[in-house]
Amino acid sequence: MNDLVVRAEKALAQDLCDHCLGRLFALVDTGLSNQERGESLRMAVRFSRALEGMEPLSPHERCSVCDEIFAMVPRFAEAVVEKLRDLEFETFLIGTRVDPIITEREERLWGLVSQDKAETIKAELNREIGKAVQALIPHEVEFATPDVVALVDTRFSHVELDVSPIFVYGRYRKFSREIPQTRWPCNRCRGKGCSKCGGTGKMYQTSVQEIIGDPLQRDAQGVDHFFHGMGREDIDARMLGNGRPFVLEVREPKKRRIDLLALQSEINEFGRDRVEVEGLRFSSREEVRQIKEAAPDKEYRVRVRLESKVNKEQLNEVVQSFKRTRITQQTPTRVSHRRADLAREREIKDLVLEELDGLVATLRVRTEAGTYVKELVHGDSGRTVPSLAGKLGIACVVEALDVIAIADQT
Ligand SMILES: [Zn+2]
Ligand SMILES: [Zn+2]
Repeated sequence: MNDLVVRAEKALAQDLCDHCLGRLFALVDTGLSNQERGESLRMAVRFSRALEGMEPLSPHERCSVCDEIFAMVPRFAEAVVEKLRDLEFETFLIGTRVDPIITEREERLWGLVSQDKAETIKAELNREIGKAVQALIPHEVEFATPDVVALVDTRFSHVELDVSPIFVYGRYRKFSREIPQTRWPCNRCRGKGCSKCGGTGKMYQTSVQEIIGDPLQRDAQGVDHFFHGMGREDIDARMLGNGRPFVLEVREPKKRRIDLLALQSEINEFGRDRVEVEGLRFSSREEVRQIKEAAPDKEYRVRVRLESKVNKEQLNEVVQSFKRTRITQQTPTRVSHRRADLAREREIKDLVLEELDGLVATLRVRTEAGTYVKELVHGDSGRTVPSLAGKLGIACVVEALDVIAIADQT
């Protein structure tokens, strides 16, 4: 007799539904549903017992593994659809939380009949509820990146939703020297509101993140937003030129079809003279990863006040000596409270004197990502070597710093 039928007969020593019987051999063939496979195996067992003159199988009443849970699938599907009613989404995935007693009984059965060809009840429920939901609403199951996962607790027909964030890519320019890149909570009250921050909970009234993220979150009806920038600039540095790439993430959005063109106009209207965005488009978690890993060269314009008068030719000579050289930077004193103190080497790709007006020099510098440009100028008490101040032998004060290009575009 066929080995499968022998094992099916062994399993049928206890009362099983067709689903639970068929699922024991789910990996044997893929053309049938577990229920269909269970049904045909049960027939084969009946037939072989009749041939051998054995007592017929007792009729199926109540499944000793699942308690007839598959009869509940339509009700689970309705609960899912009800829960999804107010949500805008394209794709979904079903997850289930199964009563641990059922899982235990399933494992005990595997102990008797072997589990090498079996599938878990969870996997079958996920699939069957997914099919039932697909029959009710015009949305597709997706495994890799579904817009929403509906988690069904089969004990109570209770459904919880896990809504995937939306991601929006763009580039921003910042024209203000008073706005940080990201939301900056008050360091005394941590956002609750206190006398130091005037009840706002913030160190700065607004940020690039909030100017872009607040209207996006409102349109998406989400609960919070996160800013992923390709690096950052100091608060007092402007971000000009081609702008800095970012991805804004909005958590738990109820809406995903957002008019990004209209949103871009609104942000630029409201952000006028402070922040401007361009090229808004939908993005992904994968692109967030790429943006965080990218380390493109940067170009800056620095306005420097020299301590005393320097001959233009002499200054030019010193400036040009930095071209394609490596400098060593000990973690700057201004950030040492939040960064480990270590020495790093960075390449200065280019340094050009654009203008010398009395004691004020304007320089353009292109550097490797992660270079501390202010320290390159003033030397940070000898922690950056060489530095402009060090080579000139006079103090050099950075009056203004702008990022004028991020070289991620070729
Ligand atoms: Zn069953
Ligand atoms: Zn505060």
